[in-house]
Amino acid sequence: MRGADVTQEVLDDGTTVCHDGDLSSLYACEFCGKPFSPRHRMQRTCGDDVCQNRRRYQNKRASFRRSPVTQSRARARNARWSAVHRSCKKRQPWLVGPPPYYEYLPGGGVELDVRPLPRWPVELRNTRGLHGMITTMVKELAGVGHRPRWPRWTLVPWPGRFGWGVYFWEDEIVDVVADKQVEGELFARHVTISTSPRRRIRAPKVKRRGRMKVDLTTITPVTITSDGRSCPHIEATADSIRNSITREFVNRLGAEEFLERDMVRLEMLSKQTFKATVPLGGKYGQVIGWEGSCQLEVNAPALWLLKCAGLVGLGSRTAFGFGRIRVSEL
Ligand SMILES: [Zn+2]
Repeated sequence: MRGADVTQEVLDDGTTVCHDGDLSSLYACEFCGKPFSPRHRMQRTCGDDVCQNRRRYQNKRASFRRSPVTQSRARARNARWSAVHRSCKKRQPWLVGPPPYYEYLPGGGVELDVRPLPRWPVELRNTRGLHGMITTMVKELAGVGHRPRWPRWTLVPWPGRFGWGVYFWEDEIVDVVADKQVEGELFARHVTISTSPRRRIRAPKVKRRGRMKVDLTTITPVTITSDGRSCPHIEATADSIRNSITREFVNRLGAEEFLERDMVRLEMLSKQTFKATVPLGGKYGQVIGWEGSCQLEVNAPALWLLKCAGLVGLGSRTAFGFGRIRVSEL
């Protein structure tokens, strides 16, 4: 494709200068070799349509290679190859890397504002008023109610005038709920609810693999039930935390293709957790869970999942503000 009249000249200092008729430039099109005077720092083509299209196609292929689907398939291929050609047949779960994943978590968050402000602050014991307000708002704006198994959103304490935000798991819902002003009711008072534009939540990054020590500290109590809702855990246990982040949680993140649940490793090192009882009132009764902190030894997939839980909540009743945790590496 290189034009016949394009010539290259190498100067004494090694610099290559391209000539094309009257135009001489240090910059040459990556695709056809024609020299050009760049109009911006990132310019890679001469600007010709053919070259522009080739650049677009190259970018597309590169982003396809970066996509978690492609990465996990490549890993699976490598694993199959190693199983046949390498002496170590058994995988080492503690050495498994973090899952390949997208740039952002699904859905997104909105900050809430309510006017007039309620007469008392919204705290965990009275989030059911807030829960009801959001349920009505979502029904009105998105036309959907609750899911039978797990809620469509998580209540997030948010530094701001009202003090709360909502993370929605589904793009379709956050898209219609974000950046709106609607009338509603909070604690039996008429209010105007404003939502901020959608804030996408960046997916956590785990750079290391191997055994890592982390501290998990609760901001609000964590409630994890083993058998339906009948048997809540009153202290942190490795099994219950692992179950909570490896079951539906993985599907809700859309990571089931990239993350092998049976490779998640999480062990309890020490804990200072206590039973927490929060009366939600009304039909919700009281919620039992645990709060405090614990120190865990985890592998990379477990750390990645815990960091996700740090963003969107751990355990159940997150739509009432439960399960806010802070995860830090020790
Ligand atoms: Zn070109």
